[in-house]
Amino acid sequence: MNLSGRQNGLLIRIDSSAIEFPSICPICGDRATHHRLVSKSNRGRLKSQRSTYYRPTRYTRKSVVQGETRRLRIPVCDDHYRTIEEMGRVNLLAGIVAGISVLLFAFIGAVIAFHYYDNIAFPIGGYFAFFLVTIIMIQSFRSLGPDDLEKVISIVDFHHLGHIIILRIKDRWYGEEILRGNPSSAQSVRFRV
Ligand SMILES: [Zn+2]
Repeated sequence: MNLSGRQNGLLIRIDSSAIEFPSICPICGDRATHHRLVSKSNRGRLKSQRSTYYRPTRYTRKSVVQGETRRLRIPVCDDHYRTIEEMGRVNLLAGIVAGISVLLFAFIGAVIAFHYYDNIAFPIGGYFAFFLVTIIMIQSFRSLGPDDLEKVISIVDFHHLGHIIILRIKDRWYGEEILRGNPSSAQSVRFRV
């Protein structure tokens, strides 16, 4: 267990083509045995493009530049290793549960509202079901957010040319280890409070 537990992390500007990561898990601090991917995509942009086939001044047109993705392989321990298939299954399941619970939430909410409006007593079990559906909905939306690895290390930005990326590291010690391991290619951008 090496992590400092200090949560005022670091933002690090680094050349992603040759990063040396500490061989410990950034989530728990145990010895790393596997790798997991973190990635970041930007959306496609509109870009003016001149057609080379026609007179450039007259036929300048807009074209969509494809969105780009950067991926990093992060060393993690046995316990925090997940395959891409596992991650996909979890996300799919969370998405389905979130969708169903939103529908149930709206339905039961409407039934309660009609009962209230008509001054009819609503069964206590119905309130309990409403409460349960609300909890499930919140939890499923939470699990659609960043996963355990993305919460501790994530790519926050990258330049669309070249390999420079900005990493957000939650644990200060781990971030400083990256700076130590990559003295020529990594700089701390600014301290996060
Ligand atoms: Zn771990």
